[in-house]
Amino acid sequence: MNEIALNRAALGSMRDFMSRTVRAFFATLTSTAAIGRFRTCLACRQPASAILCPACARASGLHPNGGKPHAGDGLARLSTVYHCAKYSGGGDLAGRSPLVHCLHQFKYGGDRYAGRELGRLFAGLLGRLSVRFSAVIPIPLHRARLSERGFNQAAWLARAAARTLKTEFLVRALERTQATQAQQTLGAVRRRANMAGVFRARRDFPKSARLLLVDDVLTTGATSEDAARALLEAGAGRVDCAVLLRAVAPHED
Ligand SMILES: [Zn+2]
Repeated sequence: MNEIALNRAALGSMRDFMSRTVRAFFATLTSTAAIGRFRTCLACRQPASAILCPACARASGLHPNGGKPHAGDGLARLSTVYHCAKYSGGGDLAGRSPLVHCLHQFKYGGDRYAGRELGRLFAGLLGRLSVRFSAVIPIPLHRARLSERGFNQAAWLARAAARTLKTEFLVRALERTQATQAQQTLGAVRRRANMAGVFRARRDFPKSARLLLVDDVLTTGATSEDAARALLEAGAGRVDCAVLLRAVAPHED
């Protein structure tokens, strides 16, 4: 081997060494950052190994070590409604459980880290169900609301769930055709009237399709019911729904 070839070989191995060192450096940086985020509970800032410390998980109605989502009563057009936890009292979420606090940080504070972790929590629970869904479909926001918020919280949860359930994620299967009045300010009857005919399916489904609708919160169910109507009219045989939080009247708690 002549001198030029030797120099080339030395340069090559030095380049390999440098790229390995840079990759190792960034890998350490990334894992340290991830561990760093996991050191505090998102709600109380106490040390934690997950999004919520065991005390906050318990206070939110979540089993600290996971467990299955609860399969609650269905509604007229929804066969089963799965929820990770309940929350009591009206549409006002402020100051409720630690899980509600995390959802607020994501939904209204735009905290993407909280969003990813809530998605992971939601998907982890749904992954324990022994049910096969044909596809996972998020409740869409109206275009105006989506551009104002910049993201659809239901789509983040649905995407994580679809990945874990190894099923299709159909983010555009439904369209919200009207911008509706904020549901929090309305009673149950007016919520239904407010939501009637708001959703439209953008594709057809075979009768064999068992679809899972996903939303962050279910209060009266008026929103999910109208979305289910649109999917059933598009041919789907069955529509279930999964939410992070399901509202209950205080006396049901
Ligand atoms: Zn905590």
